[in-house]
Amino acid sequence: MAQFELLARCHTTRARVSRLTLAHGITMLPTFMPVATQAAIKGLTPQQVESLGVTLILNNTYHLNLRPGTKVLSEAGGAHKFQGWNRNLLTDSGGFQLVSLSKFTTITEEGALFASPFTGEPTMLTPEESIAIQHAIGGDIIMQLDDVVSSLTPDRARVEEAMERTVRWLDRCIAHHDLSGKKDTQNLFAIVQGGLDLELRDRCLMQMVERKDKVAGFAIGGLSGGEEKDIFWRIISQCTQKLPEDRPRYSMGIGFAEDLLVCVALGVDMADCVFPTRTARFGIALTFQGPVNLRLAKYAKDFGPIDPNCPCPTCAEGTSRAMLNHVITRETSAAQAVTIHNITFQAQLMGGARDAILNGTFPNYLRTFFANYFGDVGYPEWCVNALRSVGVDLLEGSDIKVVPGTGAKWE
Ligand SMILES: [Zn+2]
Repeated sequence: MAQFELLARCHTTRARVSRLTLAHGITMLPTFMPVATQAAIKGLTPQQVESLGVTLILNNTYHLNLRPGTKVLSEAGGAHKFQGWNRNLLTDSGGFQLVSLSKFTTITEEGALFASPFTGEPTMLTPEESIAIQHAIGGDIIMQLDDVVSSLTPDRARVEEAMERTVRWLDRCIAHHDLSGKKDTQNLFAIVQGGLDLELRDRCLMQMVERKDKVAGFAIGGLSGGEEKDIFWRIISQCTQKLPEDRPRYSMGIGFAEDLLVCVALGVDMADCVFPTRTARFGIALTFQGPVNLRLAKYAKDFGPIDPNCPCPTCAEGTSRAMLNHVITRETSAAQAVTIHNITFQAQLMGGARDAILNGTFPNYLRTFFANYFGDVGYPEWCVNALRSVGVDLLEGSDIKVVPGTGAKWE
């Protein structure tokens, strides 16, 4: 069973530092998990990923179940051995991808019915089947199958049905996992649903917390689907206030630097997103001054590294912005170089947050980050509101303006 130890709390915000010990070692939280969809982070070897200090990655169950399939994975001795990854691994349930990638998925009480992408035959993914597949993959953290609906759906009855069904499916996942003999090495997380509705979220939280002793952690699902950021953070805040202190909290599908730090301040411990690695392949390098679009002509004669203060091999070994501008989107080596940098950026961002929480300087860390990152374009209003709710006022003693909307910063 996972060991979760709280090491420090921020005296102002709800941020905390903890040590999560799983079957493949220690992962310090809060952390960002890079996504290795096909048991590989695109462009990198597992050894490269490990050398960057990453201790927990995410694999997609839907993709691994299609190819290479559970038979091959079981023969290999699980996904760790299959991909040569020695650190911790989290698998999703496969449900989200099923709904987002297949037009023909129908949700019934039994499970998700879909057309097999190989044969077109009707195929059912039940909660028990999802857990069985995740047992074959062998992830250190496995996720319950949940009934996912778009956060933008106006159909409250459907959101309510999905939330209640997610609780029932959690019970089926717990029952199947309990009987499996895998409980010593694999840890089941529940997923809080309920859309953007505070009352439905509350009802879900209450029922999930009642099952606390049966699960190793809790995820906040059903967000990051294009909803208003001002609602997003309020839902996160509601969930982190009601989830038990002694379990890790995982906010699914977030990866922008400002989203990560706001969520950490609200009490989130884990997050994942394809964004940092996907955007790298399109030539966007992430830095503490904001994203840098290496495709722009102005970098053709910029002979400095992406970030002179970055410890990643790309920056430390002197690959210039000009070189990356020259080969990005044309040579796979450029995608690899920027992916390495972006994974390192995410790790630096979260590592910096952990250090600051331990040192009692997290509010200052937030102020410095936001001033450096958004100083020239203005603070997104939702970040100001969210951080104010936990006692940090970005505007105090600052002349940086506030801007509405997401404030996403692109050159
Ligand atoms: Zn770098």
